[in-house]
Amino acid sequence: MRRIYEDHAYGQGPVTECYWDTTVQRPERGAAIEGEVGAEVAILGAGYTGLSAALHLARDHGANVAVVEANGIGWGASGRNGGFATIGGTKASEATLLARYGAAAMAEWRGVQKDCPDLVAEILARYGIDADTHSHEGETCVAHRAGAFDQLREEAEAIRQNYGVEVELMGPSDLPRLGMNGPQFFGAMRMKLGFALNPLKYVLGLAAAAKAEGARVYENSPVERITREDGAYLLHTVRGVLRAKKLIVATNGYSSEDVPDWMAGRYLPAQSAIIVTREMREEEIAAQGWTTHGMAYDTRNLLHYFRLMPNRRMLFGVRGGTSATPASQEAMRARARADFEAMFPAWRHVETPHYWSGFVCLTRGLTPYIGPIGDWDNAWAGFAWHGNGVALGTWSGRQLARLAVGEGGVPALMARKPGRFPLGTWRRALLVGAYAWYGYVDRPDPLRPGEI
Ligand SMILES: Cc1cc2nc3c(=O)[nH]c(=O)nc-3n(C[C@H](O)[C@H](O)[C@H](O)COP(=O)(O)OP(=O)(O)OC[C@H]3O[C@@H](n4cnc5c(N)ncnc54)[C@H](O)[C@@H]3O)c2cc1C
Repeated sequence: MRRIYEDHAYGQGPVTECYWDTTVQRPERGAAIEGEVGAEVAILGAGYTGLSAALHLARDHGANVAVVEANGIGWGASGRNGGFATIGGTKASEATLLARYGAAAMAEWRGVQKDCPDLVAEILARYGIDADTHSHEGETCVAHRAGAFDQLREEAEAIRQNYGVEVELMGPSDLPRLGMNGPQFFGAMRMKLGFALNPLKYVLGLAAAAKAEGARVYENSPVERITREDGAYLLHTVRGVLRAKKLIVATNGYSSEDVPDWMAGRYLPAQSAIIVTREMREEEIAAQGWTTHGMAYDTRNLLHYFRLMPNRRMLFGVRGGTSATPASQEAMRARARADFEAMFPAWRHVETPHYWSGFVCLTRGLTPYIGPIGDWDNAWAGFAWHGNGVALGTWSGRQLARLAVGEGGVPALMARKPGRFPLGTWRRALLVGAYAWYGYVDRPDPLRPGEI
């Protein structure tokens, strides 16, 4: 497997202090592929996308399905994310998308996004998965400077109409009363969309559901290459081969340049990192005045995402970092901590014993993809959820399942084949410039006279 970051990113290093592992015991890993095994559909990757595809193929279409996972179930981003099950999935602006795809495609895309959290909720309920959900009142976008609140005000009506949801605007002076106090918050907009969950509990429950419906999951089975023989796909691992008529690749930010070759240059992994505090006392929470359990993110391009969990721990996430060496991971931890202290100064003394990171995935057009793998027959890939794969990955897995049985189409916004990024395997260097630019445009308002 040829991958584009340092080896450290693909090992256990970035997740040794992951909070989610303290909340649930991962089951012992299942068997690896030994010798030759067969299936009608082979699925590469046991995250939300691959497991949702497996669940829906086995349950709704009676297919003989085998998922192959290099590590363990949920080892990738699905077992280590922030747990915001909500809308999203692109990084291009509304105006760009409208110009590129047109109004009908945008309406279709909004409908898809709204369905995504509903599908997660339906799976949780149907299979009795207890994933510590909260924030059912939706998601709040917090203005990180005064001008950003003016923008939110302008967007609110469009969101209300386009998504048909409740949208509430909260001015800067309302925030302390609403439990959203902080020196960097200049107003907010709450949209009644989505909810928060424990991502690891969800992915483990999803895998159990897929297995209960008849899907097999092979773990500890890195696929080193994919070949074709007599109309079948052969997924080669060190100790065995999986032979299948149909193939679904669901490797997202953990994809490689050569499994299969078609992926080369078409995806760009980008890092996201999270710190989680110890449990805080009521008086500590009151001192900061951030008491809401609603999930929130800010208006920066390089956004922060945060939520006070029901057990009184604050989860705080950041984006960025173009290197994944142990030293740069530590630098990212320090940056996350500094941003946390600046945004929640009353919690400067509160320890954050948990820190980890992982990959989200982008395409050159900044839109997600579901569709064929080049000119291969009966082979599809789904990737690039742009940091919003809890719900969209789940939905896309179901859609990939439908494609594999010849049913259903692909929303126009997700159908365009991703072009290759420039710079080949050095393409993460493109992020250096992007992050520098975002750092500049995201800067806070200048201090007014008399402010310190
Ligand atoms: C820190 C962080 C915070 C995030 N927060 C949120 C959030 O709050 N809300 C949200 O919606 N999204 C969030 N995301 C993004 C979200 O987690 C992902 O979009 C989603 O989990 C992707 O799911 P997936 O199944 O497509 O891929 P993954 O879960 O990444 O799974 C891919 C799997 O493929 C396997 N694989 C790769 N290559 C091979 C191979 N050759 N052979 C066998 N197996 C292979 C990997 O081991 C991996 O397990 C976050 C991501 C990170 C990293």
